[in-house]
Amino acid sequence: MHAIIIGAGIGGLTAALTLLRTGWKVQVFEQASELREVGAGIQISPNATRLLHRLGLAEPLRRVAVRPVALEMRRWENGAVLSRQLLADVCEATFGAPYYHVYRPDLLAVLAAALPSGIVTLGQRCVGIEQDEQGVEVAFENGTTARAEVVIGADGIHSFVREALFGPESPHFSGSIAYRGLVPAERLAHLQLERNSSAWLGPERHFVHYYVGAGRFVNFVGVVPAQDWRVESWSAQGEVADALAEFADWHPQLRAIISAVDFTNRWGLYDRDPLQRWSVGRVALLGDAAHAMLPFMAQGAVQSIEDAFVLARCLHAAAPASQPEALTRYEMIRKPRATQVQAQARQNGTTFHLVDGEAQRQRDAHLAASVGTNPLLASAWLYGHDVEAEVDQV
Ligand SMILES: Cc1cc2nc3c(=O)[nH]c(=O)nc-3n(C[C@H](O)[C@H](O)[C@H](O)COP(=O)(O)OP(=O)(O)OC[C@H]3O[C@@H](n4cnc5c(N)ncnc54)[C@H](O)[C@@H]3O)c2cc1C
Repeated sequence: MHAIIIGAGIGGLTAALTLLRTGWKVQVFEQASELREVGAGIQISPNATRLLHRLGLAEPLRRVAVRPVALEMRRWENGAVLSRQLLADVCEATFGAPYYHVYRPDLLAVLAAALPSGIVTLGQRCVGIEQDEQGVEVAFENGTTARAEVVIGADGIHSFVREALFGPESPHFSGSIAYRGLVPAERLAHLQLERNSSAWLGPERHFVHYYVGAGRFVNFVGVVPAQDWRVESWSAQGEVADALAEFADWHPQLRAIISAVDFTNRWGLYDRDPLQRWSVGRVALLGDAAHAMLPFMAQGAVQSIEDAFVLARCLHAAAPASQPEALTRYEMIRKPRATQVQAQARQNGTTFHLVDGEAQRQRDAHLAASVGTNPLLASAWLYGHDVEAEVDQV
């Protein structure tokens, strides 16, 4: 059995690992000339770390990750703690797996290092897909082709494979952009930042910071409103002064973090409405290609890891003739959950950005009410879920 994966992001590389584990031959084709992740940090919740551990990655992950003490929500102007949910040992006791903060290139390197050499081919941009009853032929920009029984489009929010299957459709602009930055931790030593995931909520904006790179850097994401995003590229260099101006009246600690960065990137924040289908015949989508979502649940990459495990479980026992049905089963299992997370991420955009007033006070009262309980239990549907166990039940 031979699968081709288009795209060597977090989703594509994880799918390569899960398929190899089930005995498939795998080739990954990536358009970029090197494996790289744009952006800085990423949060990986226990619903994905427990899966990555099953790939034998517990130790390499632990070495590069930060295990945050708590997830806290704070008020924008005075830093008042609105809610604090313990992670670290509490998370592991509750869900049996850690919550991690990781520097994206480190995560990609851990995944790539676990693959045998020769699996990933760089500089191969997929520009054509054609399938018949037995298999799928993929064409690349440089004129080469490759053939396999199954093709997985893990090629991100702009997915060529999605467009080839279902036609063109523009992604949905959220009305927000994100300033992202990475500050060497020693520059912020005077702030004595705890090893938390800190989300500051304010009118039309929010700001998140946490340590990555085994504590070497503080990663930040500042989400602000924007009328439109007309820059050609998905991301662009942003001025530190502009980021500071966006958070002009906010708490000095947060402004100190922004001021300490050498440069920021600006990202237009987009998602897509849920697709009707994720697969056609022998071709299926995975990760952002299937369910691009806003980052307000910190789940995009996590969901792509869940996809990869379900995909491999569904294909594992499928005879060649029943591989299309196996892909339909993968889609049926994954779509409801990924769609729920997509919707919740959109909803968080509204909740996080409430202007000061009655609705904001209600939100903050709700957050305060969770203090003293184990609020992680409210996230059990997300963090406690084991997708491999789900496949066995369906
Ligand atoms: C500000 C921000 C913060 C975020 N924070 C989190 C977080 O904390 N936790 C989390 O889980 N998620 C987070 N996300 C979401 C996460 O980054 C994405 O969901 C995740 O990277 C998607 O992975 P993917 O492998 O599906 O796609 P991508 O990472 O987009 O990878 C797709 C790959 O396919 C390649 N490719 C594209 N087209 C072709 C082609 N035609 N031929 C060959 N190769 C091609 C691309 O070069 C790329 O390498 C965040 C996103 C943003 C914007």
